[in-house]
Amino acid sequence: MQKDKFILGNVEVARGTNTTIYLDLPKLYNTPTQLPVRVMRGKRDGPIVFVSAAIHGDELNGVEIIRRLRKLEILKKLKGTLILVPIVNVYGIMTLSRYLPDRRDLNRSFPGSVKGSLASRVAKIFFDEIVSKCDLGIDLHTASIHKSNLPQIRTNIYNEYTFNLAKVFQAPVILHSEVRDGSLRAVAQEKGVPILLYEAGGALRFDETSIRIGVHGIVNVLRANDMLPRVSKRVKKLPIVTKNSQWTRANKSGMLRTIKALGDTVLKDEVVAYIDEPLSDATMEVKSPFAGVIIGKSEIPLVQEGDAIFHIAKFRNLNVADDKIEYFNEDAIEHSEFNELNDEDIIE
Ligand SMILES: [Zn+2]
Repeated sequence: MQKDKFILGNVEVARGTNTTIYLDLPKLYNTPTQLPVRVMRGKRDGPIVFVSAAIHGDELNGVEIIRRLRKLEILKKLKGTLILVPIVNVYGIMTLSRYLPDRRDLNRSFPGSVKGSLASRVAKIFFDEIVSKCDLGIDLHTASIHKSNLPQIRTNIYNEYTFNLAKVFQAPVILHSEVRDGSLRAVAQEKGVPILLYEAGGALRFDETSIRIGVHGIVNVLRANDMLPRVSKRVKKLPIVTKNSQWTRANKSGMLRTIKALGDTVLKDEVVAYIDEPLSDATMEVKSPFAGVIIGKSEIPLVQEGDAIFHIAKFRNLNVADDKIEYFNEDAIEHSEFNELNDEDIIE
């Protein structure tokens, strides 16, 4: 819970005020480099939540999600504190790169250290100044370069608190995932700060559905934590919840023709793609290893042997899956509560 004083980067943020704070990062050669952070502190006490994006510097949907979120009129009713960090990897985004200039992955460098690599030092500043002061974090990602993801929340479904928040986020899919060493989620959770990871769309692109589901989802999570007024509207549907997923991989190199899209359901052994050779009729079928839903996909029509093609989440009841995917996608675009948020609740 909120203490009387909230201080970030030596700046005190008073109740009922919003401030942008610039945290000093290691210089890029001789150029001063800073991490811009927006702190929105409600008049009344409540939890402290951060929303971060572009920890991978080429993952941009989250930057736009935070831009839209920040402008919502409803945030005038905020209880507690919301900390927005739209671009964590300020070095990577300059070169449209997932990584830092030292070629390290920031999301494998937590909790970081003051004497470590560049990535480790940036991780340490972000973790100490922001993550460690929060009760909850929402970290926004997309698929890696040349891939795209169906909007999904990755979390530990055996933790009742995060599983419940994953449900209220209302992305079409909840994927149980184990934490990776050095990831923000692993280290934050170890220190008692639960993290919801939202994965949607692809690198270096804006995807409108992913952005809308993301903005809506964060508002839903803030409502569930009593940081925004609750709404008692329609009964929400439960997203597809899955514990098992697998990437299908190319068994040979060639040109890739995918015949399934994100959100499609597939049967076990159903053909999902072909690998062709330009001057031969030899074609190899790529089949789904089990019945499920396509939650990630390669977007480049070339593969090398071993490359990932489709990420398929195991799900037996395909009719139910079809219904749910359709419901959540339509909901993101058309539902009136959602349009209210976009069209009327904008401050500027
Ligand atoms: Zn990422």
